[in-house]
Amino acid sequence: MSVVALMGAGFFSACQSGPRVTENAQAATVNESLPLPPVIPIHAKEDSTAPAFDLKLSANSVPDGSLVLLTITPRASFDQDSLRVKFEDVEFPAFHPTEQAAEYEALVVMPFNSKPRKSRIEVEWKVSGKSRSAEIPVEVIDGRYRSEKLTVEGSKIDPPKKTLKRIMAEVKEIGSIYRHSDRKKYWTGAFSLPIDSEVTSPFGNKRVYNGKMKSFHQGLDLRARTPLPIHAPANGRIALAKDLYFTGWTVIIDHGYDLFTIYGHMSRLDVKAGDMVTNGTQLGLSGATGRASGPHLHWGAVLVRQKFNPEGLTRVLH
Ligand SMILES: [Zn+2]
Repeated sequence: MSVVALMGAGFFSACQSGPRVTENAQAATVNESLPLPPVIPIHAKEDSTAPAFDLKLSANSVPDGSLVLLTITPRASFDQDSLRVKFEDVEFPAFHPTEQAAEYEALVVMPFNSKPRKSRIEVEWKVSGKSRSAEIPVEVIDGRYRSEKLTVEGSKIDPPKKTLKRIMAEVKEIGSIYRHSDRKKYWTGAFSLPIDSEVTSPFGNKRVYNGKMKSFHQGLDLRARTPLPIHAPANGRIALAKDLYFTGWTVIIDHGYDLFTIYGHMSRLDVKAGDMVTNGTQLGLSGATGRASGPHLHWGAVLVRQKFNPEGLTRVLH
């Protein structure tokens, strides 16, 4: 796979904070006004006499690239550790929201840039070794992302040949980090914003760089014209803290159960790989390192190796 293909596939963050041209003025607002869906008692396909679980979704229509929270309340006993949550063949971890809780939760990503459709989240479990399953409907709706044109340094669009080795090594390293999350839930409740600022470029914008390369903005940009302290939005373990070709000085936090958040273009790092951080720990200062057309914070999020809008972490969790 070429670097350009990797970039096109959205492997790298793509940021700006200066003036930009918006090509279509379609509203990019996420539909947050939908009423919360009711709790649905779920009967196993194999046994319709008694509900095995009550299932509840934080929303039943969800824009592509966004998170939905599934709450699973057991109504009958089942084999321990047999609970599985799947959305279109991708398995998402189920966990207890607190150590004492009887119910389970699972965060599920509606894949970014995928077509609107009616789909379902599948729940599987075992009773005395026998497999059972049930499903809850969910509708993927259009995220209505905008399009914008950006100008950045030419070498960040067509990287010089000598940097290809470095770029490929970084892709490999990050891929490995996303495959080795701690099987532990570090975070509690909703995430906070990493800096006290406003969004200058939302998640999901289609981007045309220097009039040619097309990409998608797989994170959101927060305004930071001067260096601002960046704080961990939730507890976790620092999985990476180093200089990367595209995102510059970068921090990746592993929050456990395949959930990561990413901080790009920083001017200073105050943490190192392996450090444990809590909500509010200073990670460093914002900046304009890597592929950035001006100073800002690029905030990204990944769950089960799928990028999604980090804003959901401040909203669906409680
Ligand atoms: Zn960005």
